[in-house]
Amino acid sequence: MQKDDLITVTIEDLSSEGLGVGHCDGMAFFIKDTVIGDVAEAKIMKMKKTYGYARLVRLITPSPDRIEARCPVARQCGGCQIQSMSYPAQLRFKEAKVRNNLIRIGKFEQPPMEPIIRMEEPFRYRNKAQFPVGTAKDGRIIAGFYAGRTHAIIECEDCLLGVEENQAILELVLAHMNEYHIRPYEEKTGKGLVRHVMIRKGFATGALMVCLVVNGDSLPHAEALVEKLCTISGMTSITLNINREQTNVIMGREVKLLWGQPYIEDTIGSVRFRISPLSFYQVNPLQTEKLYNKALEYAGLTGEETVWDLYCGIGTISLFLAQRAKRVYGVEIVPAAIEDARANAALNGMTNAEFFVGKAEEVLPEKYEKEGITADVIVVDPPRKGCEESVLSTMIQMAPKRIVYVSCDSATLARDLKYLCERGYELTRCCPTDMFGNSVHVETVVLIQRKDT
Ligand code: SAH
Repeated sequence: MQKDDLITVTIEDLSSEGLGVGHCDGMAFFIKDTVIGDVAEAKIMKMKKTYGYARLVRLITPSPDRIEARCPVARQCGGCQIQSMSYPAQLRFKEAKVRNNLIRIGKFEQPPMEPIIRMEEPFRYRNKAQFPVGTAKDGRIIAGFYAGRTHAIIECEDCLLGVEENQAILELVLAHMNEYHIRPYEEKTGKGLVRHVMIRKGFATGALMVCLVVNGDSLPHAEALVEKLCTISGMTSITLNINREQTNVIMGREVKLLWGQPYIEDTIGSVRFRISPLSFYQVNPLQTEKLYNKALEYAGLTGEETVWDLYCGIGTISLFLAQRAKRVYGVEIVPAAIEDARANAALNGMTNAEFFVGKAEEVLPEKYEKEGITADVIVVDPPRKGCEESVLSTMIQMAPKRIVYVSCDSATLARDLKYLCERGYELTRCCPTDMFGNSVHVETVVLIQRKDT
């Protein structure tokens, strides 16, 4: 087999980037725009030793799970890799992905899987969007999303995963840029001003936040834009984020208030949160509540426990837990998020939660070794790369009865669980949760318990 050959492949699985995967003559092939169950004719684009990439030429037999994507740019945009798969098929895929990673990487023979927690509606669920701003080939200023794996902007002001207000906000921003000849930032040259428009909405409160990420320290005629944005119902916070670095990190460190409050508020369950532009906040608040309730159930609190919440962000899980624990300690690397976390504890009148800024892998060992702190329950919710080994080894030394692991990457989850379960713990419950409908991502919450308790 070589480049340009035509092959026939039955798609069996999806890669972590959402490419269809199937086999031909013992070789694995990755084929974009296919879904599990498709029989596809494809043209080989690139060959490696044991696998290759091919381009879809035609569907010989479409998968019974194939549906028409609702979004007109679903195929080009990198966001919704599996909009062409029916929602039940997406859920089956996600459940299987978690189970397979636990078996293959975690070496658990029979993971104790609970049915995936599904969404009511896998559209319009995101409370946050970050639209890159750029220039189209014909010179117009556009906003949209990056095409998969590139930084070419696909024009799209109404992402079907996001809130309807996004479009009106983007139109005002682009009109302002046109009126005052404000240029979009260009990655190649590092010139131009406006890089991204970040929009967040509190689903429970209706509050809207707009944050313009700029390569400079001010926006010309900002007051005119503010006036227009304020006509949108719910507008609460308008800020500039300063990012002069030539990098693909979206946000810089400095935030300047243009109008209103420097944050918005939202509630999850009965807990109220304030959210700053730089703080992490779960993007799907409806599913987050279900996820946190699951985490709380797994934590098995009676009111007497000391609990650690590592990677706590603005203290969302911490404060959920604090409702039922004696004492909760949160650790988070972003200082602004910890400021929010402390403010959130006060906002909810909770006095039993304390927060530390720093890396989990530094704060936890330090608190344990120097101050002899203990834990009955530890909750972790790390970024995709999972926990550093030093965090895991300190947890083993602290020997909490239960560890609740919330994960957005089941491969690193399985790796970390293997480490912990080889050192005295047992995997007892596991519940995938769909927080990111139409994408390949899946969230999982897991309970492991000390074997000798
Ligand atoms: N539990 C929170 C946040 C989870 S996201 C929630 O549900 O909202 C993961 C968080 O880990 C982010 O806030 C990120 O800033 C933080 N983080 C990343 N690396 C970290 C590290 N090494 N130590 C502590 N926090 C870290």
